[in-house]
Amino acid sequence: MSKANNKMDFMAIGAHADDIELMAGGTVAKLVKMGKKGVFVDVTDASAGTRGSSEIRQKEALQAAKSLGILHRENLALPDSRLENNQESQLSMIAVIRKYRPKILLTHYFKDEHPDHIATAEIVDAARFKAGLKNFNCPGRAFRPERLFHFMGPEYFEPTFCVDISEYWTVKMKSVLCYKSQFFNSSAKEFKGKTDIASPEFLEYLEYKHRFFGWRIRRKYAEPFFCKEIPEMGDLTNLGGKRF
Ligand SMILES: [Zn+2]
Repeated sequence: MSKANNKMDFMAIGAHADDIELMAGGTVAKLVKMGKKGVFVDVTDASAGTRGSSEIRQKEALQAAKSLGILHRENLALPDSRLENNQESQLSMIAVIRKYRPKILLTHYFKDEHPDHIATAEIVDAARFKAGLKNFNCPGRAFRPERLFHFMGPEYFEPTFCVDISEYWTVKMKSVLCYKSQFFNSSAKEFKGKTDIASPEFLEYLEYKHRFFGWRIRRKYAEPFFCKEIPEMGDLTNLGGKRF
């Protein structure tokens, strides 16, 4: 657990350590480069993973966050693969939102193949609202983040917007590959257990996905996001759209 640090610009929340890096690592690196302060929150304890262990993944997670310029990473230690959107999980999420008071939240989308990802999207959505209720009985002062943006897992959605991460692709992949126990690398054989994400094909898929969304905004690489609310636009003349 890291030291409390009030008033973060953003909080990225993943069900498992490695989710944030995979789905929003480039955006995080870009925000950090812009001088924004952020915190990562992993919801589960990674105890049900096929490869590695909770301890190994915790170490990898700290290294990955650091490589993106994130110095605070919390783990709510809720049960991996048994995560539910209930009172207990919402209270943990509200407490961490009130502790860091981030302007925006980034998390999973409501549709996903991993039930923990779906539960996380629902927990964060409910916790964001309840964290702002003055008389809601939970540690910390009432606070509601301004926006909640959902990043994309394996399930497609039509994005509300895409973030150009062309300059941050290398740093994103560096953070992903900090998870030596999870993804294909030269020491992959040290870890037992066969998973889809440990195959070399998975890293190829990841690149195609970000190239695909890059093409949608005529950039080399992009990360897609969904916003349930209507995002307010400021300068209409600065919404991207330059050609290659
Ligand atoms: Zn996950």
